[in-house]
Amino acid sequence: MIYLDYQATTPLAPEVAAAMRPWIEEKFANPHSPSRWGSEAAAAIEVARDQILTAAALDEGRFSFTGSATEALNWAIKGTAERSERRKLVTIATEHAAVLDSVEWLEGRAYQVVRLAVGADGLVDLGAAREAIDRKTAMVAAMLVNNEIGVIQPVAELAVMAHEAGAVMLCDAVQGFGRMDLPEGADLIAISGHKLHGPKGIGGLWIRKGFEPRPLLHGGGQEQGLRSGTLSTGLCVGLGEAARLATERRDADAMHVAKLFELALATLGEGWTINGTAEARYRGNLNLRRDGLDGARLIYDLRNLAFSLGSACASGSGRPSHVLRALGLGDREARSSIRLGFGRYTGEEELVLACRRIAVAASEQHRAA
Ligand code: PLP
Repeated sequence: MIYLDYQATTPLAPEVAAAMRPWIEEKFANPHSPSRWGSEAAAAIEVARDQILTAAALDEGRFSFTGSATEALNWAIKGTAERSERRKLVTIATEHAAVLDSVEWLEGRAYQVVRLAVGADGLVDLGAAREAIDRKTAMVAAMLVNNEIGVIQPVAELAVMAHEAGAVMLCDAVQGFGRMDLPEGADLIAISGHKLHGPKGIGGLWIRKGFEPRPLLHGGGQEQGLRSGTLSTGLCVGLGEAARLATERRDADAMHVAKLFELALATLGEGWTINGTAEARYRGNLNLRRDGLDGARLIYDLRNLAFSLGSACASGSGRPSHVLRALGLGDREARSSIRLGFGRYTGEEELVLACRRIAVAASEQHRAA
């Protein structure tokens, strides 16, 4: 099996597994209980929180753990809308479902939602953004790196517009955190453990002081009353260690994926077109199409390779991806697209082998058609 689905999830780093193990196996105390064991767990969670803030280069505000980035995004959007007098939300048509479905939910409750278009390069139209973001806008929500096509949105520019209009800027940094600088000016930043060689079931929201969204979860008042629920020490420690490791390995990881990107393109050969800009993109994501290709059949035929059509959600639904359609691709072009995702633990040889198999199977499909 060759794993090329790094945007869906990443392999757990061995260092992360080792850091988590004692907190899962022996040190099971509730981190919110006052016993010595509980205090020890609480201290480990605070170390993890600091590791995340250091990796994010954020020296102010606070980081609240959540059960996933989906929860962090729901909380940021719904909790900010609730505390604002304004009833307009501006986002991008190519956002993750956690953002799009949250704003749609609010739309059903009389909020106005603007979904900004992107160009064929996948980048948001800043002119349209300038027109849409006004003094009625409560929040602007934009992702740093797109999970389907890897393009990097100009979040810092959107943040300037948001602040000029007195709106809150939310950044979904799930695919970029630990790999690149976080954008300046975001007031709320959502991250996820499992996209960063950390565990699944843990994420979080960084909150600039004064921008605390109303809580989504009520109960024991953990996380300073902002997010109730007993924290899992093991998962928090895992996310902290994943963040620390990402900082330590950031340059090496970036060089590695840049090399893999070129290698994959060279091995796939002629006839492929990259979806989205080739420049402003994270190079561990290669989303491309080939005339006449049936992407779903290719995935089925090459069952020893793990890759996908787009987001895991889009692949499961059988519907063409909303991101590819937003680029202006028709259904046929969208269905002829595949997403290869690679990273820290992908070897050059296995990537070449996988790309050769993909190129051969794609040519066979073409001949048979
Ligand atoms: N945002 C982006 C860009 C993602 O890629 C994902 C994961 O697919 C999420 C949000 C949701 O993250 P989680 O799996 O932690 O809920």
